[in-house]
Amino acid sequence: MAIERVGVVGSGAMGSGIAQACAQAGFAVTVRDLDQRAIDRGLASIEGSLARLVKGGRASEADAKAARERIRTTVDLAALAQSDLVIEAAFEEIDVKREIFAELDRVCPPATILASNTSSLPIVEMAAATKRPDRVAGLHFFNPVAVMQLVEIVRAITTSDATVATLREFTQRLGKRGVVCKDTPGFIVNRLMVPYLLGAIRALEEGVATAEEIDEAVKLGLRHPMGPFELLDYTGLDINLHVANVFFDEFKDPSMAPPPLLRRMVAAGHLGRKSGRGFYEYDEKGERKAPAAKGSGEAAAKDR
Ligand code: NAD
Repeated sequence: MAIERVGVVGSGAMGSGIAQACAQAGFAVTVRDLDQRAIDRGLASIEGSLARLVKGGRASEADAKAARERIRTTVDLAALAQSDLVIEAAFEEIDVKREIFAELDRVCPPATILASNTSSLPIVEMAAATKRPDRVAGLHFFNPVAVMQLVEIVRAITTSDATVATLREFTQRLGKRGVVCKDTPGFIVNRLMVPYLLGAIRALEEGVATAEEIDEAVKLGLRHPMGPFELLDYTGLDINLHVANVFFDEFKDPSMAPPPLLRRMVAAGHLGRKSGRGFYEYDEKGERKAPAAKGSGEAAAKDR
């Protein structure tokens, strides 16, 4: 089955990025959010991203205009009924997602494939809310969607081979790389990344070095573009705490347990870039100020 019309549920950070990527690849896109304000925020973010692509010479003015014209918006879920594929990118809550999938199952024709962009929830629980569990899968995009090449295609135990094949072809047409994986917590990338980020927080708690020193060591020693604390602040400490809790519930593996410092920083509202303070401090434009973490590794070494 070839995908031509794509529905997107949610016009937040991910939904707007996914809608833009689909529109740029030539798909007709309909985006649904709960109210006009959320839709306008999503459209503004798409405008900004397209303008940056044009400015950087990565898209022509005409291509950006054509992409914009392929995007329709709605507050009515039933308006997604014409879609060959619907990608859900709403809040990361299983009850919200199950309700959306049940409603999509009612309004969309039987052939429509329903996909979720969830980072941590079981795809099979959304599949089980529908009467088409063979046509439900995960399509896990990475942030920012316009830049990141990877899409994890998540096969639930109910997902058919035909659905996986269609989604492989779809990700190719998006100009992205689809990697198929099983429906287990964190899929591939987050399964490896979360214990690494939590390990960095434990190293900070133990006084191995400061956040800045650990970030510098990782960037130079592993050639990562961002250090773990830069990444934690960028993605949001609350999101990381939530994901660690989900992983720990599932695996009961101590490397997945949220360290005390993470819980306390979230309780204090130190959520990272979006709250102006996390492991580092940020100005109102989101630019980094001075490091907030105290105590250097050198000083700790001298203490011993
Ligand atoms: P967000 O909070 O920026 O956006 C969510 C949007 O969904 C909001 O605009 C909200 O109004 C809308 N929404 C909620 N319920 C809805 C409904 N019933 N119908 C339509 N719209 C609804 O969230 P986000 O960061 O874009 O994340 C969306 C999903 O993508 C989550 O499942 C998240 O785990 C996943 N994800 C996020 C990232 C990331 O880095 N932010 C990366 C990969 C995957």
